[in-house]
Amino acid sequence: MFKNILILFVLFTSFLAKAQLIDNDFCGYQKEVDRILKRNPQLLEWQNNLYKEVMNEYFIQQNNKRNFTVSTDTVTYTIPVVFHVLYNSNSENIDFSYIQSQMDELNLAFNHQTRDTQRIRPIFKPVGGDTKIRFVLATVDPSGNQTNGVTRTFTNKTTFSLNTFGQYSTDMKYTNRGGKTAWDPTKYMNVWICNMRFPNQVSMTLGFATPPTNAPNWNFTGGTKDTTDLETGVVCHYSTIGKNHPLAIGNNIEAKTMVHEVGHYLGLRHTWGDAPNTSQGCSVDDGIFDTPNTRTRNYSCTGQNTCTESIDDKPDMTENYMDYSLDGCAAMFTKQQGFMMRFVLNKLRTGLPKREIAFDTTYIISPNTTVKLYPNPVLKGGSINIEIQSPQKSEFEVSLIDMNGKQVITKNIRSNQKESVLMDSYSTGFYALLVKSKENGKFVHKQIVVIE
Ligand SMILES: [Zn+2]
Repeated sequence: MFKNILILFVLFTSFLAKAQLIDNDFCGYQKEVDRILKRNPQLLEWQNNLYKEVMNEYFIQQNNKRNFTVSTDTVTYTIPVVFHVLYNSNSENIDFSYIQSQMDELNLAFNHQTRDTQRIRPIFKPVGGDTKIRFVLATVDPSGNQTNGVTRTFTNKTTFSLNTFGQYSTDMKYTNRGGKTAWDPTKYMNVWICNMRFPNQVSMTLGFATPPTNAPNWNFTGGTKDTTDLETGVVCHYSTIGKNHPLAIGNNIEAKTMVHEVGHYLGLRHTWGDAPNTSQGCSVDDGIFDTPNTRTRNYSCTGQNTCTESIDDKPDMTENYMDYSLDGCAAMFTKQQGFMMRFVLNKLRTGLPKREIAFDTTYIISPNTTVKLYPNPVLKGGSINIEIQSPQKSEFEVSLIDMNGKQVITKNIRSNQKESVLMDSYSTGFYALLVKSKENGKFVHKQIVVIE
């Protein structure tokens, strides 16, 4: 009898430990990888080779940049997004303002412009950067009709979660199963917003995304190629959408869940590399060199260092959007993660983005003096940085003039110092930027600045 109770107790505690682990996995990335592995066992090998190729390409480009032989990637990629809102209750039918707020936060995060960048520890500041990827709500649907980028569908389903272990169905992606069939996934990033919460369950899967998987010439039986797979896209629980959503679960109020999931959609792994168990954690990497090796998920940002690296040991980068320490910590993608995502857009999700040459950011105004202004266009709510580089110590007056001729900002800047100006209290539109020498009162530079 005692023995039976003991066995039951052991079974019960291992069940609890498993439940705890799964419950804490707010992101369904591993489940998606497992799903793809079933039909394509070569996925992990292909992914590892992809990361090697990307890092190799990154260092070649860096080397070229140092030698001034090739300019860096100056293309901005803009991805059209459609939100499919599936609702059974009014609160699930989220207001457009939440979607707009989510798009703003997504763009600020991918452009390294959130105010949360102040959280980044000095050790990681140099590796954070603008991914040069932007997102816009689709304006034209697949039939050529105008749209606001949101579809709304009533569903009989009260949840898309299957059980208390965070398992979920993919029914949200099929109109005939209570969901909404994707718009052409080679042209739109499909985002399904629905209820992922099992009734009365606190911990849950808040979101998941399909990683890019189609190697060139990769044919496999039993499935379609993943760029055309109608399940391609991002799924998020409705209350994660928008900043300070009143129904947000726990402290999940910073709209970071979708930022994390879009990272997966564009090819990023978790910072700990998704080792199958913690004891192997430090031997499995995320394939990106400028994210420190990390043993497993971090849920807090207290300076932990879970893997010792033989060269250049750094603490875990809990500031990274691809860790689990999202709200209160996360504030950056690294430069190499940005490179990885652009690589995916160039090689694997090629039809998705619109490509635009970014505005030049450096202006040579005399043989020894340059004005650097970036980013331009700047997002409303972001900051624009101005630097004037000159061998002499000089002082300049920088002013921003709106279309009515009204001077909205005036700042004095010394040469070789960076000035950041926050753009949240100005309207979107075109502005003239004037730079005047304080020594002789002459204008040394004029240009157009755009607030988007
Ligand atoms: Zn994830």
